[in-house]
Amino acid sequence: MEKFTGSCLCRAITYKSNSAPLRTFNCHCEDCRKCSGAPYLTNIFVKEVDLDIQGTLNSYIHQSESGNKITKRFCENCGCQLFSFNEGRPGLVRIHAGTVNELEVVKPQGDVWISKKIPSIKLDETLDKFQENFT
Ligand SMILES: [Zn+2]
Ligand SMILES: [Zn+2]
Repeated sequence: MEKFTGSCLCRAITYKSNSAPLRTFNCHCEDCRKCSGAPYLTNIFVKEVDLDIQGTLNSYIHQSESGNKITKRFCENCGCQLFSFNEGRPGLVRIHAGTVNELEVVKPQGDVWISKKIPSIKLDETLDKFQENFT
């Protein structure tokens, strides 16, 4: 089992996942682009019960395009967003993969919301593609 750890930029927040990633996708949706400031966001899904978080997180709550309430959790010191919780996927947490320490753990299996992607971003042709979400 591939456990992994991570932190925010200032390291006030650290975490440990007691399970390997359940799935990992590059997401090109507008929410992921705007929240991260990056051209797309790689998300690692694990069960909430398998994630131990140390440090004080702040929250930002918004609605996804599908109408679900999404809670973004970020470090109040450095502003790094580490986690997203989607009420439509109870019990699961999305870890923003750029915060992971063990880089070899980050292995995207596909690209989602490619209908929203920045046109100049090149996709890995060997990965699964979804115009919208994978469910
Ligand atoms: Zn921080
Ligand atoms: Zn997204």
